[in-house]
Amino acid sequence: MVYPMNALSVDQQEQINGLCNPLGMRAETYNGQTSNKLKAELRKDPPEILLTNPEYLNDSFLAWLDRHWTSFLSDLCFLVIDEMHLYHGYFGTNMALLLRRLFVQLDRLGASPKVFLSSATCANPQEHALNLTGRTAKLLQISKMRPRRHYIFVNPNNTDSHSSPKNRRRNPLEKRIVNATMAILQQKLQVLVFGPSKRFLDQVYIESRRKAKQLGLDPELLAIFYADLPKKQKRENQKKIKAGKVRVTFTTSSLEVGLDIGGLDGVVLAGFPSNIMSAWQQIGRAGRGWDRDAFVLFFAMNDPIDQFFVNNINEFLDRDYDHLVIDPTNEQLIANHVPSLKYELGDRLQTADRHILGDSFYEAARNDRRRSPRYRNYRPQKKLTNRGLRGNAGENYVLEFEGKEIGQIPAMRRFREAYQGAIFPFAGNKYSVESLLLEKEKNTVQLAEARPGRRTDATFRNYLNVRDVFEELEIGDFTVVRGKVSQAMGYVGYRLIDEQSGEVLDRVDVEPDYYNLDQLHAFWVTLPDDSKSVRGLGALEQMFRVGAMFVIPTNRFDTSTWAEPKDFTAYYYENYSGGIGIARKLYNEWSSVLSKGIEIAQNCPCASGCQNCIEPAKSWSSSNVNIDKAAGIQLASRLVKAEQMVAN
Ligand SMILES: [Zn+2]
Repeated sequence: MVYPMNALSVDQQEQINGLCNPLGMRAETYNGQTSNKLKAELRKDPPEILLTNPEYLNDSFLAWLDRHWTSFLSDLCFLVIDEMHLYHGYFGTNMALLLRRLFVQLDRLGASPKVFLSSATCANPQEHALNLTGRTAKLLQISKMRPRRHYIFVNPNNTDSHSSPKNRRRNPLEKRIVNATMAILQQKLQVLVFGPSKRFLDQVYIESRRKAKQLGLDPELLAIFYADLPKKQKRENQKKIKAGKVRVTFTTSSLEVGLDIGGLDGVVLAGFPSNIMSAWQQIGRAGRGWDRDAFVLFFAMNDPIDQFFVNNINEFLDRDYDHLVIDPTNEQLIANHVPSLKYELGDRLQTADRHILGDSFYEAARNDRRRSPRYRNYRPQKKLTNRGLRGNAGENYVLEFEGKEIGQIPAMRRFREAYQGAIFPFAGNKYSVESLLLEKEKNTVQLAEARPGRRTDATFRNYLNVRDVFEELEIGDFTVVRGKVSQAMGYVGYRLIDEQSGEVLDRVDVEPDYYNLDQLHAFWVTLPDDSKSVRGLGALEQMFRVGAMFVIPTNRFDTSTWAEPKDFTAYYYENYSGGIGIARKLYNEWSSVLSKGIEIAQNCPCASGCQNCIEPAKSWSSSNVNIDKAAGIQLASRLVKAEQMVAN
């Protein structure tokens, strides 16, 4: 049984054992949280049911197959892929390639297990199952059964965070969540609080502990939970949550799936998650006890998707789940998997493997002339896991404080948040980044205690270059293109800010630190000669971003946008190399995306653009140019009209 999160497999193991121990069978987890001693025992004498994760499928079951798993996999009867909706975009594409590698091995071993995929929130289950496994699936559906839940959608009417220096002081949403947390503690309820980012959750956690102490409430009833924490802490927190010793848990999507916390009274959503599916997963954590009503408290942020649902609650409740997209023909990811595939096959690819691997994967393996090196402990699969199957672009950084490891973060987050000089909130404490050590085996961020009451804002510069054009269209006088770009992002300095007054205490320039990404699939539009308005271009960029949120569900951090004034082009691009299917989908559906963007901008009562319609607030891509809402609507409408003319 393959679970996308370890927290979930621990939870499921207990329940499965409850059912199957009486039948004389047992279930065990085999993943990074399993001790080496137990692992060795399980390999020698495997139980009837093993619960694992995609990373272990890759660098244990496949990498060490010949040494440890031949007999276990030869006898495999069932393969269960739970929470299949989590395998979309970058992660999903990796999973699709990983499963094809597994199926080839099973085929060689003469095993043909039945494959089950499950999900509660997928609009295209059969299509998605086919894309993930390369096999057609039969659909078994049970009707939606939802426990009684009370929905409270709150629009706090925040002022835009960019609008005045005074509002920079504290994010008003943070204050709301802290107040809600205090009320929950006083009422002795148990809830999960889902937030938009780890940075946000850390801030809220620190502030809630402080406030709890002030009010004479026990701060130990609060906890934070996300993937970057050390294993031991995660396990302890999970136990405390299940035992009801922790009443409020601040979390990201780590606790979004499947975890069965029977006693949960409700969930708090601080901002709307990346997509509808995610929202339902988070909401699904509450009310699993069935014996009493649960509540869902949603605070809208200044963001088009938040504002849309807070004003149209029925649209949310009645809305279909998302259509999931992956791209198993991603040439970059295929290239990453080829060395592992060849190693596993002992370099003996057979014609019959084509129908399992699919044309692109098969051809790439066939055209690769390199022989896999064979030395004792070399396994190419390890490199694949280190790169990150889940889209943590780049390798991990170890966070070190007083000589001890306190957690790990992916390279992209390191670049964005733990830059040289940053004040970096992590797991309930605030640190300052002292130095970065880049070594062959291990990259480390050295942290020191931060002076209280300060925060930093980084300045980044972005450079985008077109590398390749796949398809293009002339629509009226506009050019609409699908192709590839590369991006260089430079960190050039930061401002030190006093949290209370919002005053800028210092501006520091640093020697630029670059983060480079190549082979990014992209969609872009170039303005006609007669209407080269830079501010209209900026608005057009944002209308694509906003419209795509509604039409092409994706994780918020899987894509970026950029307006380039030099060539009057608005770009929408994927943050991962080699294509994850989103840019292609946008190229096919750009006019409905843009129409949605126009509708949101037109329906917003503001005159010149705000965070509820076209100004970016939650996404990483902060606009490089000023925005003129009216000029943007005009440009976008002209483009959509031109498309309708072409279509007719
Ligand atoms: Zn507006």
